[in-house]
Amino acid sequence: MQRRDAGFQSVREWDNANFLHPWEGMETLGQNDRTFTESGEGIYVTTETGRRLIDGPGGMWCVQLGYGNAEIADAMARQAREMAYFSPFNNASSVSARLAHEIAQRSPGDLNHVFFTTGGSTAVDSALRFVHFRNNVLGRPEKKIVISRHKAYHGSTYLAASVSGKERDKSWLDQAPGLAHFLPDVNPYRRPAGMSIDAFLDEKVADLENAIRAIGADKVAAFIAEPILASGGVIVPPKGYHRRCLEVCRKHDVLYISDEVVTGFGRLGHWFASEEVFDIVPDIITCAKGMTSGYVPMGACIISDRLIADVAGGNAKGATFSNGYTYSGHPVSAAAALKTIEIIEREGILEHVRKVTPLFQERMHAMRSLPIVGDTRGMGLVGCIECVTETAGTDPLATDRALGALIDTRCQELGLILRPIINMCVFSPPLVISESEIEQMFDIMEQGIRLAA
Ligand code: PLP
Repeated sequence: MQRRDAGFQSVREWDNANFLHPWEGMETLGQNDRTFTESGEGIYVTTETGRRLIDGPGGMWCVQLGYGNAEIADAMARQAREMAYFSPFNNASSVSARLAHEIAQRSPGDLNHVFFTTGGSTAVDSALRFVHFRNNVLGRPEKKIVISRHKAYHGSTYLAASVSGKERDKSWLDQAPGLAHFLPDVNPYRRPAGMSIDAFLDEKVADLENAIRAIGADKVAAFIAEPILASGGVIVPPKGYHRRCLEVCRKHDVLYISDEVVTGFGRLGHWFASEEVFDIVPDIITCAKGMTSGYVPMGACIISDRLIADVAGGNAKGATFSNGYTYSGHPVSAAAALKTIEIIEREGILEHVRKVTPLFQERMHAMRSLPIVGDTRGMGLVGCIECVTETAGTDPLATDRALGALIDTRCQELGLILRPIINMCVFSPPLVISESEIEQMFDIMEQGIRLAA
């Protein structure tokens, strides 16, 4: 086949003609003017026109160690040369077994069984399938409902999407009937006027317990929650929320799945946020993204010894957990993850995140004084600015929907990529960001917001 000229105009045409993107807006299909990148270094990416931009979202909250890390690339190349692939079904590759051990060592409590997946959606999917599997083995097949929350995002497989609560995403796609029950989201900024944080917290914990009682604990299998609800708008729950929800779950024999696809692997300054930040040891943790620093796809759900004991050995009743992927624990991904762990530890990246977090959060919160900024929120190296216009007040539906995209456009002109979500912009830069780069990022963001206002 003859190759067409790979000049840039052709790339844009091919993108519009042939690349159906995630979350593609169908009305504008084929008319997009996207930013294309060619290379990257540290927190910067270089576009096809040679512009150097700070990657505010760190890919999709995933490029923990920044772009152009030769050590990770070399580890992947070495693994590909030596042993690119081996079936994880009846056999194993030693690099994946090593990685399972390293992850178990860093995960909280008795979460020692690592089930490798191809990304975050399949991690959540596998966690849900395991929860159902366990209840089938335990002889209670009616205990299957999963409680989730409005605005949660857990992925794009049918099951993971079925427990995801973003209304806009559910409007044109089906969800598994009867699988999920959604609680109101837990956004302190949107709490009723005059309500104290303590009263709000009590109400949100009561939402969970009331739902379990109304549905019947014998029918509720699990509660799934992101420690910080990420793509739904970086919603940080009031202190004590997860701890109290876990207590409710324990009381009613409902499992707690902590979706750490965004918060895991250093984003909040710890390997996992569940125990170190939110004081919970959940039953299952799901992770992905940062585990390979975004260099190659991989995910995992990490299951507790307690849950596994219920379905293993003498309790197995002949059962097989018939769930898995050709690429579960792919050796090249495992090599990238092992190298990521090694570098994070050797370079003290978790400590670095904890050290620069105050500056990051301080600069972000300072933007609350800007004209169109209604709320700023975040934790660790993740943040969000939520815009509200005078006319729309704080009604999220009336708020100018285009503000996020407008701010992103202005910031890109000034040298910073953001992730616009309706009236919000979120950012989660590579964890290796320095203090001066944090200052630079927020200087640009502030200027971009002023221009958009
Ligand atoms: N869970 C959470 C909390 C996420 O933020 C995401 C993706 O953004 C997923 C699951 C799905 O992960 P993936 O896109 O790797 O399938």
